[in-house]
Amino acid sequence: MSRSIETSKKLFKEAQNYIPGGVNSPVRAFKAVGGDPLFISSAKGAFMYDEDGNAYYDLINSWGPMILGHAHPEIETAVRNAIGNSLSFGAPNSKEVDIARLIIDMVPSIEKVRMVNSGTEATMSAIRLARGYTNRNKIIKMEGCYHGHGDSFLIAAGSGAMTLGTPNSPGVTQGTANDTLTVPFNDLDSVDKLISEVGDDIAAIILEPVAGNMGCVLPKEGYLKGLRERCDKHGIVLIFDEVMTGFRLAQGGAQEVFNVMPDLTTLGKIIGGGMPVGAYGGKKEIMEFVAPTGPVYQAGTLSGNPVAMAAGMAMLSQLKENPDVYAKLASLTEKLHNGLQAVNDKLNLPYTINRLGSMISIFFTDREVIDLETAKTCDTGLFGKYFQAMLEEGVYLPPAQFETWFLSYSLTEGDIDKIITAHENAIKKILK
Ligand code: PMP
Repeated sequence: MSRSIETSKKLFKEAQNYIPGGVNSPVRAFKAVGGDPLFISSAKGAFMYDEDGNAYYDLINSWGPMILGHAHPEIETAVRNAIGNSLSFGAPNSKEVDIARLIIDMVPSIEKVRMVNSGTEATMSAIRLARGYTNRNKIIKMEGCYHGHGDSFLIAAGSGAMTLGTPNSPGVTQGTANDTLTVPFNDLDSVDKLISEVGDDIAAIILEPVAGNMGCVLPKEGYLKGLRERCDKHGIVLIFDEVMTGFRLAQGGAQEVFNVMPDLTTLGKIIGGGMPVGAYGGKKEIMEFVAPTGPVYQAGTLSGNPVAMAAGMAMLSQLKENPDVYAKLASLTEKLHNGLQAVNDKLNLPYTINRLGSMISIFFTDREVIDLETAKTCDTGLFGKYFQAMLEEGVYLPPAQFETWFLSYSLTEGDIDKIITAHENAIKKILK
C-alpha cells in the first residue's frame, strides 16, 4: 500500500470503544468491502481529504447532498450569516416560508410541504399521513428500496441493511412487519396480485422512483405510470421517496423526468445543502390532514431550524438559478459511463452499468439489473477488491456494491478522465 492511513486506523480503533462499530451509520464501517474506514478531516470541491492528508475524488458526496461539490461558497456564506442570529428558535421563522415556497415551485406535485430533520423522518411521517388519510393499515414497498430506518421500512430493505445481511431487522414487531407488503421492483403483476388480495386495506405504495439503494436501478417504461393508475383506481396514496432523486435528477426530481405525479413526495439530502434536513409534501387535501390543521400528529423541536433552512435555501436557489447544472452533470456522468464501458469492453469484462442523470452504478454481474434479484447476482467480493483498489487510485466510492455513485458539479471533464484511468488501473490490478 503506497499511502498511509495510520491516523484513520488509530481513530477507528478508539471509536470502537465508544460508538457501536465505531461509526454513527453502519455502511461507514466498510464492512462490505474490508479494510478500515477513512476518517475525513475536510473536503473542498470534488475532493475529500482524510486525517492522514490523502486526497480522493469524492463520488459519494455525503450520499447525495453535496451535488455542487464541497464547501460551496454561497451555501457556506448563507450558513455563516444565519448563525449570527442564534442557532435555533423553536418558533416560526421567515426562512421556513421561503424554502417552502421554493420547494413548491420546483417540485411539480407538491402543493404543501412540512420540513423535518432527515429522510427517515420524512418517510415515517408520510406513511403515517397516508394511513391517517385513508384509514387503512397496510403499505406496499418494493424489495431492495430503502426508505430510512423506520420500523415499517426494514422489511426487504436495501442499502446498508441489505449489505449487512439484515434486510429484515430484529426489533421490528411482527405486527408492524405484517403491515408491510413487499413486491419486486419493476413488477406490476405482483402489485396487481396484492391489490386483488388486500386492496381495500392498502394505504400507500411507496417506492424510490429510480432506485438508488440496490445500486442504481431504473424504472421500466410504463412502470411508474402503471403504479399511478392502480393507486387512482383503488384509492391508494402513491408516495415517491425522492430523498435521493429529488433535486438530483432534475429540479423537480424523478417525477419531473418521468412526468408521473405522486400524491406525496419525501425529500432529504440535497434539500438541506449538507445540513440535517428532510421534508414531505404533496396534495393540499392530504397535507391538510397533518397537525395542527388535521388529526395526524407529527412534530419536531428542531424542524425548520433557521441555519438548516438557510443552507437548504442557498442550495435550492443555486440549482434553480443555474439550470445548466443538470445538463452538465448528465454529460459528465455519460462521459464516465462511456469511459468505464470502453475499459470493460477492452478487457472483455461483461459488467453491467446503470445510469440516469448523475446517478451511476457498476454491477459486477453480466445480468441486466432491473430489481433486487438481478442485483443480487453481483460478485460482491470482487466489488470489495475493486473498492480498495480505487481508494489506492485516489477515488472514494460508496463502500458497497448496492449503492449508487453520485457525481458533483465541481468535477471537470479532466477529472472524469482521471477517474476512468483509475478504473482501468484498479480493474487490471484486481483481475491479475
Ligand atoms: N429514502 C431514501 C431513498 C434514501 O436513500 C435514504 C438514505 N439513504 C433515506 C430515505 C433515509 O434518509 P436519512 O438517512 O436522511 O434518514
